[in-house]
Amino acid sequence: TKKLAAAHAENRPTYSFEYFPPKTAQGVQNLYDRMDRMHGFGPAFIDITWGAGGRMSNLTCEMVKVAQSAYGLETCMHLTCTDMAVSKIDEALEEAYKAGCTNILALRGDPPREKEKWEQGDGVAFRYARDLIKYIKKKYGDHFDIGIAGYPEGCDEETDADAHIPYLKEKVDAGGTFIVTQMCYDADIFIAWVKQCREAGIPESVPIIPGIMPIQTYDSFLRRANWTQCKIPSDWLEKLEPVRNDDARVRDVGKDLIADFGRKLLDSGTTMHLHFYTMNLAASTQMVLEELEMTPATDSHNPDLKPLPWRQSLG
Ligand code: FAD
Repeated sequence: TKKLAAAHAENRPTYSFEYFPPKTAQGVQNLYDRMDRMHGFGPAFIDITWGAGGRMSNLTCEMVKVAQSAYGLETCMHLTCTDMAVSKIDEALEEAYKAGCTNILALRGDPPREKEKWEQGDGVAFRYARDLIKYIKKKYGDHFDIGIAGYPEGCDEETDADAHIPYLKEKVDAGGTFIVTQMCYDADIFIAWVKQCREAGIPESVPIIPGIMPIQTYDSFLRRANWTQCKIPSDWLEKLEPVRNDDARVRDVGKDLIADFGRKLLDSGTTMHLHFYTMNLAASTQMVLEELEMTPATDSHNPDLKPLPWRQSLG
Protein backbone atom coordinates (compact mmCIF):
# COMPACT_ATOMS: atom_id res chain seq x y z
CA THR A 1 0.00 0.00 0.00
CA LYS A 2 1.16 3.60 -0.49
CA LYS A 3 1.40 4.21 3.26
CA LEU A 4 3.54 1.13 3.68
CA ALA A 5 5.98 2.26 1.02
CA ALA A 6 6.23 5.76 2.54
CA ALA A 7 6.87 4.44 6.07
CA HIS A 8 9.42 1.91 4.90
CA ALA A 9 11.28 4.54 2.90
CA GLU A 10 11.80 6.22 6.29
CA ASN A 11 12.83 2.90 7.85
CA ARG A 12 9.77 2.79 10.10
CA PRO A 13 8.29 -0.61 10.95
CA THR A 14 4.55 -0.77 10.45
CA TYR A 15 1.61 -3.04 11.19
CA SER A 16 -1.89 -3.71 9.96
CA PHE A 17 -5.13 -5.21 11.26
CA GLU A 18 -7.44 -7.68 9.56
CA TYR A 19 -11.17 -7.78 10.32
CA PHE A 20 -14.01 -9.95 9.04
CA PRO A 21 -17.64 -8.91 8.48
CA PRO A 22 -19.69 -9.80 11.60
CA LYS A 23 -22.93 -11.76 11.27
CA THR A 24 -25.33 -9.29 12.91
CA ALA A 25 -26.05 -5.57 12.60
CA GLN A 26 -25.10 -5.11 16.26
CA GLY A 27 -21.86 -6.97 15.58
CA VAL A 28 -21.09 -4.58 12.73
CA GLN A 29 -21.70 -1.55 14.94
CA ASN A 30 -19.51 -3.02 17.70
CA LEU A 31 -16.77 -3.66 15.17
CA TYR A 32 -16.91 -0.09 13.85
CA ASP A 33 -16.47 1.13 17.43
CA ARG A 34 -13.52 -1.21 17.91
CA MET A 35 -11.97 -0.21 14.58
CA ASP A 36 -12.26 3.39 15.69
CA ARG A 37 -10.44 2.60 18.94
CA MET A 38 -7.80 0.50 17.18
CA HIS A 39 -7.24 3.31 14.68
CA GLY A 40 -5.57 5.01 17.64
CA PHE A 41 -2.86 2.31 17.66
CA GLY A 42 -1.71 3.65 14.28
CA PRO A 43 -2.03 0.79 11.75
CA ALA A 44 -0.59 1.52 8.29
CA PHE A 45 -3.69 -0.12 6.84
CA ILE A 46 -6.60 -2.34 7.75
CA ASP A 47 -8.22 -5.02 5.65
CA ILE A 48 -11.64 -6.59 5.43
CA THR A 49 -12.01 -10.24 4.42
CA TRP A 50 -14.28 -11.62 1.72
CA GLY A 51 -16.64 -14.36 2.96
CA ALA A 52 -16.08 -17.86 1.63
CA GLY A 53 -17.91 -18.09 -1.70
CA GLY A 54 -18.92 -14.44 -1.55
CA ARG A 55 -21.07 -14.91 1.56
CA MET A 56 -21.92 -11.43 2.92
CA SER A 57 -19.85 -9.84 0.19
CA ASN A 58 -22.13 -6.78 0.18
CA LEU A 59 -21.12 -6.22 3.77
CA THR A 60 -17.43 -6.41 2.87
CA CYS A 61 -17.97 -3.68 0.26
CA GLU A 62 -20.00 -1.60 2.71
CA MET A 63 -17.38 -1.92 5.46
CA VAL A 64 -14.59 -0.99 3.04
CA LYS A 65 -16.58 2.11 2.10
CA VAL A 66 -17.15 3.13 5.72
CA ALA A 67 -13.56 2.44 6.80
CA GLN A 68 -12.00 4.17 3.81
CA SER A 69 -14.23 7.12 3.13
CA ALA A 70 -15.94 7.83 6.47
CA TYR A 71 -13.15 6.84 8.89
CA GLY A 72 -10.24 7.78 6.62
CA LEU A 73 -8.45 4.47 7.25
CA GLU A 74 -6.17 3.16 4.52
CA THR A 75 -8.24 0.09 3.65
CA CYS A 76 -7.55 -3.06 1.70
CA MET A 77 -10.46 -5.13 0.37
CA HIS A 78 -10.08 -8.89 0.04
CA LEU A 79 -11.60 -10.20 -3.19
CA THR A 80 -11.84 -13.83 -4.24
CA CYS A 81 -12.63 -15.80 -7.40
CA THR A 82 -14.91 -18.32 -5.66
CA ASP A 83 -18.34 -18.44 -7.34
CA MET A 84 -17.81 -14.98 -8.83
CA ALA A 85 -19.10 -14.13 -12.29
CA VAL A 86 -17.19 -11.34 -13.98
CA SER A 87 -20.13 -8.95 -13.41
CA LYS A 88 -19.87 -9.47 -9.62
CA ILE A 89 -16.14 -8.86 -9.70
CA ASP A 90 -16.75 -5.69 -11.72
CA GLU A 91 -19.30 -4.47 -9.17
CA ALA A 92 -17.00 -5.09 -6.20
CA LEU A 93 -14.05 -3.37 -7.84
CA GLU A 94 -16.21 -0.42 -8.89
CA GLU A 95 -17.51 0.01 -5.34
CA ALA A 96 -14.00 -0.11 -3.91
CA TYR A 97 -12.82 2.37 -6.52
CA LYS A 98 -15.69 4.77 -5.80
CA ALA A 99 -15.00 4.55 -2.04
CA GLY A 100 -11.42 5.70 -2.65
CA CYS A 101 -9.97 2.30 -1.75
CA THR A 102 -6.65 1.68 -3.52
CA ASN A 103 -5.72 -1.75 -2.15
CA ILE A 104 -7.09 -5.17 -3.07
CA LEU A 105 -5.93 -8.50 -1.65
CA ALA A 106 -6.57 -10.72 -4.67
CA LEU A 107 -7.26 -14.34 -3.79
CA ARG A 108 -8.53 -17.55 -5.31
CA GLY A 109 -10.68 -17.94 -2.21
CA ASP A 110 -11.75 -20.71 0.10
CA PRO A 111 -14.41 -23.10 -1.21
CA PRO A 112 -17.95 -22.14 -0.20
CA ARG A 113 -18.99 -23.56 3.21
CA GLU A 114 -21.10 -26.37 1.78
CA LYS A 115 -18.29 -27.62 -0.49
CA GLU A 116 -15.09 -29.35 0.48
CA LYS A 117 -13.11 -28.70 -2.66
CA TRP A 118 -12.71 -25.59 -4.76
CA GLU A 119 -14.31 -25.87 -8.20
CA GLN A 120 -14.49 -23.27 -10.90
CA GLY A 121 -18.12 -24.03 -11.82
CA ASP A 122 -20.23 -22.55 -14.63
CA GLY A 123 -20.02 -18.82 -15.07
CA VAL A 124 -17.13 -18.43 -12.61
CA ALA A 125 -14.72 -15.98 -14.19
CA PHE A 126 -11.33 -17.02 -12.81
CA ARG A 127 -9.59 -20.15 -11.64
CA TYR A 128 -6.50 -18.78 -9.90
CA ALA A 129 -5.68 -15.58 -8.03
CA ARG A 130 -3.18 -14.90 -10.83
CA ASP A 131 -6.07 -14.55 -13.32
CA LEU A 132 -7.94 -12.12 -11.04
CA ILE A 133 -4.79 -10.01 -10.66
CA LYS A 134 -4.36 -9.82 -14.44
CA TYR A 135 -7.97 -8.73 -14.78
CA ILE A 136 -7.65 -5.99 -12.15
CA LYS A 137 -4.48 -4.69 -13.85
CA LYS A 138 -6.18 -4.71 -17.26
CA LYS A 139 -9.19 -2.77 -15.99
CA TYR A 140 -7.61 -0.40 -13.49
CA GLY A 141 -3.92 -0.16 -14.45
CA ASP A 142 -1.94 0.93 -11.39
CA HIS A 143 -4.89 2.34 -9.42
CA PHE A 144 -4.90 -0.58 -6.98
CA ASP A 145 -1.95 -1.94 -5.08
CA ILE A 146 -2.54 -5.67 -5.28
CA GLY A 147 -1.76 -7.89 -2.31
CA ILE A 148 -1.44 -11.66 -2.68
CA ALA A 149 -1.42 -14.63 -0.30
CA GLY A 150 1.75 -16.57 0.54
CA TYR A 151 2.15 -19.89 2.39
CA PRO A 152 5.42 -20.37 4.32
CA GLU A 153 4.22 -23.82 5.44
CA GLY A 154 2.12 -24.83 2.44
CA CYS A 155 -1.67 -25.12 2.58
CA ASP A 156 -4.38 -27.73 2.64
CA GLU A 157 -4.36 -28.46 -1.08
CA GLU A 158 -0.60 -28.29 -1.49
CA THR A 159 1.28 -29.02 1.70
CA ASP A 160 4.70 -28.62 0.11
CA ALA A 161 5.60 -24.96 0.72
CA ASP A 162 8.32 -25.08 -1.97
CA ALA A 163 5.74 -25.99 -4.62
CA HIS A 164 3.88 -22.72 -3.96
CA ILE A 165 6.83 -20.45 -4.61
CA PRO A 166 6.67 -20.54 -8.43
CA TYR A 167 2.93 -19.76 -8.18
CA LEU A 168 3.68 -16.89 -5.84
CA LYS A 169 6.23 -15.56 -8.33
CA GLU A 170 3.61 -15.88 -11.07
CA LYS A 171 1.26 -13.71 -8.99
CA VAL A 172 3.99 -11.10 -8.51
CA ASP A 173 4.74 -11.13 -12.25
CA ALA A 174 1.01 -10.66 -12.92
CA GLY A 175 1.01 -7.48 -10.80
CA GLY A 176 1.05 -8.41 -7.10
CA THR A 177 2.83 -5.68 -5.13
CA PHE A 178 2.80 -7.06 -1.58
CA ILE A 179 2.50 -10.52 -0.03
CA VAL A 180 0.59 -11.34 3.14
CA THR A 181 1.22 -14.80 4.54
CA GLN A 182 -0.91 -17.43 6.15
CA MET A 183 -0.43 -17.35 9.94
CA CYS A 184 2.93 -18.56 11.13
CA TYR A 185 4.48 -18.86 14.61
CA ASP A 186 7.95 -20.13 13.84
CA ALA A 187 10.36 -17.29 13.05
CA ASP A 188 13.03 -19.60 11.60
CA ILE A 189 10.55 -21.10 9.13
CA PHE A 190 9.35 -17.65 8.06
CA ILE A 191 12.85 -16.23 7.65
CA ALA A 192 14.09 -19.24 5.64
CA TRP A 193 11.01 -19.13 3.41
CA VAL A 194 11.43 -15.42 2.67
CA LYS A 195 15.03 -16.15 1.65
CA GLN A 196 13.77 -18.84 -0.75
CA CYS A 197 11.22 -16.43 -2.22
CA ARG A 198 13.91 -13.83 -2.83
CA GLU A 199 16.17 -16.46 -4.42
CA ALA A 200 13.26 -17.44 -6.67
CA GLY A 201 13.23 -13.89 -8.02
CA ILE A 202 10.57 -12.15 -5.93
CA PRO A 203 12.17 -8.73 -5.62
CA GLU A 204 12.82 -6.88 -2.34
CA SER A 205 10.47 -4.16 -3.60
CA VAL A 206 7.59 -6.58 -2.91
CA PRO A 207 7.22 -6.68 0.90
CA ILE A 208 6.56 -10.11 2.39
CA ILE A 209 4.34 -9.57 5.40
CA PRO A 210 3.90 -12.20 8.11
CA GLY A 211 0.32 -12.97 9.12
CA ILE A 212 0.21 -13.19 12.91
CA MET A 213 -2.68 -14.49 15.00
CA PRO A 214 -2.47 -13.13 18.55
CA ILE A 215 -3.28 -15.69 21.24
CA GLN A 216 -6.70 -15.24 22.85
CA THR A 217 -7.39 -18.60 24.50
CA TYR A 218 -5.45 -21.85 24.58
CA ASP A 219 -8.14 -23.84 22.73
CA SER A 220 -8.66 -21.32 19.94
CA PHE A 221 -4.90 -20.99 19.53
CA LEU A 222 -4.50 -24.76 19.05
CA ARG A 223 -7.57 -25.01 16.83
CA ARG A 224 -6.43 -22.32 14.42
CA ALA A 225 -2.85 -23.55 14.29
CA ASN A 226 -4.12 -27.05 13.48
CA TRP A 227 -6.55 -25.74 10.91
CA THR A 228 -3.87 -23.84 9.01
CA GLN A 229 -1.28 -26.55 9.71
CA CYS A 230 1.25 -24.08 11.06
CA LYS A 231 3.96 -25.39 13.37
CA ILE A 232 3.96 -24.37 17.00
CA PRO A 233 7.46 -24.12 18.45
CA SER A 234 7.76 -26.68 21.28
CA ASP A 235 8.71 -24.12 23.94
CA TRP A 236 5.46 -22.26 23.21
CA LEU A 237 3.45 -25.29 24.27
CA GLU A 238 5.65 -25.76 27.34
CA LYS A 239 4.87 -22.19 28.40
CA LEU A 240 1.17 -22.18 27.51
CA GLU A 241 0.19 -25.65 28.68
CA PRO A 242 0.52 -24.96 32.46
CA VAL A 243 -1.79 -21.90 32.25
CA ARG A 244 -4.21 -23.30 29.66
CA ASN A 245 -7.31 -22.92 31.85
CA ASP A 246 -6.67 -19.31 32.79
CA ASP A 247 -7.48 -17.11 29.76
CA ALA A 248 -5.92 -13.98 31.23
CA ARG A 249 -2.62 -15.77 31.86
CA VAL A 250 -2.75 -17.40 28.42
CA ARG A 251 -3.11 -13.94 26.87
CA ASP A 252 -0.23 -12.63 28.95
CA VAL A 253 2.16 -15.50 28.15
CA GLY A 254 0.92 -15.41 24.54
CA LYS A 255 1.68 -11.70 24.35
CA ASP A 256 5.33 -12.36 25.25
CA LEU A 257 5.63 -15.21 22.75
CA ILE A 258 4.08 -13.28 19.88
CA ALA A 259 6.07 -10.15 20.69
CA ASP A 260 9.32 -12.19 20.68
CA PHE A 261 8.30 -13.70 17.35
CA GLY A 262 7.57 -10.24 15.88
CA ARG A 263 10.82 -8.82 17.24
CA LYS A 264 12.83 -11.67 15.77
CA LEU A 265 11.28 -11.11 12.34
CA LEU A 266 11.82 -7.34 12.43
CA ASP A 267 15.41 -7.75 13.70
CA SER A 268 16.17 -10.29 10.94
CA GLY A 269 15.51 -7.64 8.29
CA THR A 270 13.18 -10.00 6.38
CA THR A 271 10.20 -7.77 7.04
CA MET A 272 9.33 -4.28 8.17
CA HIS A 273 5.67 -5.01 8.75
CA LEU A 274 3.52 -7.21 11.00
CA HIS A 275 0.00 -8.13 9.93
CA PHE A 276 -2.39 -9.07 12.74
CA TYR A 277 -5.36 -11.38 12.29
CA THR A 278 -7.31 -9.56 15.00
CA MET A 279 -10.38 -11.86 14.90
CA ASN A 280 -12.24 -8.57 15.41
CA LEU A 281 -10.82 -8.25 18.95
CA ALA A 282 -8.56 -5.52 20.25
CA ALA A 283 -6.95 -6.64 23.52
CA SER A 284 -4.41 -9.27 22.44
CA THR A 285 -3.15 -7.26 19.46
CA GLN A 286 -2.85 -4.15 21.62
CA MET A 287 -0.87 -6.08 24.28
CA VAL A 288 1.59 -7.35 21.67
CA LEU A 289 2.08 -3.91 20.14
CA GLU A 290 2.63 -2.38 23.56
CA GLU A 291 5.15 -5.09 24.43
CA LEU A 292 6.97 -4.24 21.18
CA GLU A 293 6.71 -0.53 22.06
CA MET A 294 5.22 0.08 18.64
CA THR A 295 2.02 1.95 19.53
CA PRO A 296 2.10 5.73 19.47
CA ALA A 297 2.16 7.03 23.06
CA THR A 298 -0.21 9.79 22.04
CA ASP A 299 -1.77 10.77 18.74
CA SER A 300 0.56 13.77 18.47
CA HIS A 301 3.61 11.47 18.29
CA ASN A 302 2.41 9.80 15.16
CA PRO A 303 2.25 12.08 12.12
CA ASP A 304 0.41 9.34 10.22
CA LEU A 305 -2.62 9.42 12.47
CA LYS A 306 -5.51 11.39 11.14
CA PRO A 307 -8.13 12.13 13.82
CA LEU A 308 -11.51 10.68 12.99
CA PRO A 309 -14.22 13.20 12.01
CA TRP A 310 -15.96 13.24 15.39
CA ARG A 311 -12.65 13.55 17.23
CA GLN A 312 -11.93 16.66 15.16
CA SER A 313 -15.26 18.13 16.10
CA LEU A 314 -14.52 17.41 19.76
CA GLY A 315 -11.22 19.25 19.33
P1 FAD B 1 -3.88 -19.25 -5.70
O1 FAD B 1 -2.57 -18.57 -5.57
O2 FAD B 1 -4.65 -19.05 -6.94
O3 FAD B 1 -3.65 -20.81 -5.47
C1 FAD B 1 -4.75 -21.71 -5.37
C2 FAD B 1 -4.29 -23.16 -5.46
O4 FAD B 1 -3.85 -23.44 -6.78
C3 FAD B 1 -3.08 -23.46 -4.56
O5 FAD B 1 -3.21 -24.80 -4.10
C4 FAD B 1 -1.88 -23.32 -5.49
O6 FAD B 1 -0.83 -24.16 -5.09
C5 FAD B 1 -2.47 -23.74 -6.84
N1 FAD B 1 -1.95 -22.98 -7.98
C6 FAD B 1 -1.75 -21.63 -8.05
N2 FAD B 1 -1.32 -21.29 -9.28
C7 FAD B 1 -1.27 -22.43 -10.01
C8 FAD B 1 -0.90 -22.73 -11.36
N3 FAD B 1 -0.46 -21.78 -12.19
N4 FAD B 1 -0.97 -24.02 -11.77
C9 FAD B 1 -1.38 -25.01 -10.91
N5 FAD B 1 -1.73 -24.79 -9.63
C10 FAD B 1 -1.67 -23.52 -9.19
N6 FAD B 1 -10.18 -16.84 1.58
C11 FAD B 1 -11.40 -16.27 1.45
O7 FAD B 1 -12.35 -16.92 0.97
N7 FAD B 1 -11.62 -14.95 1.81
C12 FAD B 1 -10.63 -14.18 2.30
O8 FAD B 1 -10.84 -13.00 2.61
C13 FAD B 1 -9.32 -14.75 2.47
N8 FAD B 1 -8.28 -14.02 2.93
C14 FAD B 1 -7.03 -14.58 3.01
C15 FAD B 1 -5.94 -13.79 3.42
C16 FAD B 1 -4.67 -14.33 3.50
C17 FAD B 1 -3.51 -13.47 3.94
C18 FAD B 1 -4.45 -15.70 3.17
C19 FAD B 1 -3.08 -16.32 3.27
C20 FAD B 1 -5.51 -16.49 2.75
C21 FAD B 1 -6.80 -15.94 2.66
N9 FAD B 1 -7.89 -16.70 2.22
C22 FAD B 1 -9.14 -16.12 2.09
C23 FAD B 1 -7.73 -18.12 1.93
C24 FAD B 1 -7.36 -18.38 0.46
O9 FAD B 1 -8.37 -17.89 -0.39
C25 FAD B 1 -7.20 -19.88 0.30
O10 FAD B 1 -6.04 -20.29 1.01
C26 FAD B 1 -7.18 -20.40 -1.11
O11 FAD B 1 -7.24 -21.81 -1.04
C27 FAD B 1 -5.95 -20.04 -1.93
O12 FAD B 1 -6.00 -18.72 -2.34
P2 FAD B 1 -4.76 -18.05 -3.16
O13 FAD B 1 -5.15 -16.68 -3.45
O14 FAD B 1 -3.52 -18.30 -2.44
O15 FAD B 1 -4.86 -18.93 -4.50
